Amino acid sequence: MRRISIFGATGSIGQNTLDLIARAPNTYQVVALTGGGNIAQLARDAIAHRAQVAVTAYEDRLSDLQDALAGTGIEAAAGEAALIEAAARPADWVMSAIVGAAGIAPGFAALEQGATLALANKESLVAAGQLLLSTAATHGADILPVDSEHSAVFQALLGEEVAQVERVIITASGGGLRDWPIEKLADATPQDAGAHPNWDMGQRITIDSASMFNKALELIETREYFGFNPNQIEAVIHPQSLIHALVGFCDGALMAHLGPPDMRHAIGFALHYPKRASLPVARLDLAQIGALQFEAPDDARFPALRLARDVMEMRGGAGAVFNAAKEIALDGFLAREIGFMQMSVVVEETLSRIAQEVSLSNPLESLADVRGMNHLARVRAREVMARVSQMRR
Ligand code: NDP
Ligand code: MG
Repeated sequence: MRRISIFGATGSIGQNTLDLIARAPNTYQVVALTGGGNIAQLARDAIAHRAQVAVTAYEDRLSDLQDALAGTGIEAAAGEAALIEAAARPADWVMSAIVGAAGIAPGFAALEQGATLALANKESLVAAGQLLLSTAATHGADILPVDSEHSAVFQALLGEEVAQVERVIITASGGGLRDWPIEKLADATPQDAGAHPNWDMGQRITIDSASMFNKALELIETREYFGFNPNQIEAVIHPQSLIHALVGFCDGALMAHLGPPDMRHAIGFALHYPKRASLPVARLDLAQIGALQFEAPDDARFPALRLARDVMEMRGGAGAVFNAAKEIALDGFLAREIGFMQMSVVVEETLSRIAQEVSLSNPLESLADVRGMNHLARVRAREVMARVSQMRR
């Protein structure tokens, strides 16, 4: 039996992963399942999948989890240290699907015990890409991308030589506000930005899709995971979300990966890799689809893409700052402290303020460095946000 753990099991990616696991009884032994505030779901899944341990990120929810698991023999634990302890438990395959920087440390712990890390938590690559890859190499562990675009690039590269790649194009739906006039974007509410035309995802990534911060993170993720130069990586708007990415080779061939917008494809690919297995995803009917559209993204509308280019050039600690500032700005937008277009202002100003304090291109050499940069960026982003929110009033 293959031992698996799922971090962020109660979320959108986590639930899709459990859906695949549930379809193959007696194949997997679930070691750890983790969640945040959704204790009922976590307990239900831990019981259904006979997990060894269930962990909630929140220490003040431990007694709720213990109550929900009473008499089942499943261990209950809580807090960040417990998440890391659970990630260090021997497992063959670990899904990293916590949202945000909170997902970084458990991923490192999973790699250190040699598990294959199925990586949905893009923040890990953005904030700590070089360190994550070197940790995997040191421990002989594999990282498999689960973000749909990166899974698509990975698949297009199978059997190819990376040196013969000219360019990589990742697609973006354009998000929930794609058809809004640019001058109205400043007034968009979390509700407006929280509806995605194609994908059913967690709230935070859905809003990041509307602002293109999600695509910005994915450009950086592409640079860090595959090692391409920033000028080889492009994003194009493709409203249908059927092509997830394309890889262009030196002979001009462009290999596209198509599939329905269903994360079970990328999750299932990572679960079965290096084999392929039948997956419960819809099959595309091309004649019925009829046409596919593409459009260049407008930098004025999506400043996050321009900022991502700077971060890809700087590398070092810039990704950790970009991600942390984005998380604070998104919290501020969700709390209606700043407007939709002010999120990128907060991120840009945080980057330039921290660049005056430290050299952003210096590499982060340990998890402690990553935590330190993440912390500093959060503090500065809150200061910047306090000022930016005044401008709004
Ligand atoms: P969700 O918001 O649906 O789920 C997030 C998960 O993380 C939940 O299990 C949640 O617990 C848990 N969680 C939240 N806060 C914390 C915390 N501070 N510490 C520990 N756990 C926490 O997110 P998604 O599933 O949409 O996304 C997960 C990751 O995958 C993100 O990094 C996202 O960018 C990436 N991703 C997602 C895609 C998608 O289709 N959804 C596509 C590609 C990448 P609870 O709900 O119990 O509070
Ligand atoms: Mg994606």
